Amino acid sequence: MKNRLFRDLNGYLKEIFGQKVYKITIDAGLSCPNRENGSGCIYCNDRGSGTGLFREGLSVKEQIERGIEGLKRRYNNVNAFIAYFQSYTNTYADVKSLEKIWSNVRDFREIVALSVGTRPDCVNKENLSLLNSFSGDYKIFLELGLQSTDEKNLNWIKRGHSLEDFEKALDIATNFNFDIVVHIIFGFPNDNVQSAVEMARYLSKRPVNGVKIHLLYVSKNAPLKKLYEEGLYTPITRELYTDMVVSFISHLRSDIVIHRLTGDAHKGELIAPLWSADKTGILTEIRNKLVEKGLFQGKEINI
Ligand code: SF4
Repeated sequence: MKNRLFRDLNGYLKEIFGQKVYKITIDAGLSCPNRENGSGCIYCNDRGSGTGLFREGLSVKEQIERGIEGLKRRYNNVNAFIAYFQSYTNTYADVKSLEKIWSNVRDFREIVALSVGTRPDCVNKENLSLLNSFSGDYKIFLELGLQSTDEKNLNWIKRGHSLEDFEKALDIATNFNFDIVVHIIFGFPNDNVQSAVEMARYLSKRPVNGVKIHLLYVSKNAPLKKLYEEGLYTPITRELYTDMVVSFISHLRSDIVIHRLTGDAHKGELIAPLWSADKTGILTEIRNKLVEKGLFQGKEINI
């Protein structure tokens, strides 16, 4: 790890497939129990944090076709894709429906992996066994939204599941042939560098293969906007966010693949913090801070 700062997704995919692999984000038209039974997570928009393409009338197959065509137009040598079921909760349906949805990938020979984003309280042996049945032909990423290990934070964002739910999901998922990728958020009201270190320690002790770090931002059409406008939520500063990410990386087990380091709102939907729109600048800043401090993934793991 000493000659690279962290284990990033592109490098990992290249190790497996020998080429760059491109992601196609898919909205399968599913729903989410947290939206059906309540108002949803406070940062979630009405597209279930996804593209909204299903509602616009595009089937899963059409979304994949469009995704592949668009990427091939934009870049050269584009030959391998991940079908990323992103919007809402992608195990929130009966197994017959899920099989139909996921089987769409079989029509596209250049798809090499499936990535399924879901909530910890929506996985069970049945739906994960079904997902596992694709693992003979595809690399499988199971993306579990944990967001925080602190129950206070989970309640504040109205997440609708507990840390215990996440641990149960992890227990089930480890029986299958998946890469387990955990989504976490930085930017809760009481977040600080120490909370990032604690999160890294927590994940490093568990059978986790990947992590996605999101920044908590306020977007149009999300309930968090009201709290922000009423002065009840102050977004994290750029400096604290990048410090948290740097400390998280240096305390994270070195084999865990870092799938993303920040999050960005859909075009025209970001309300705050506005600095989060500068994704390239933030990534550069994180890398620069790691270099300046002589840190890399796992460097401080025993400290
Ligand atoms: S679990 Fe996902 S889709 Fe459901 S409300 Fe939360 S962010 Fe939105």
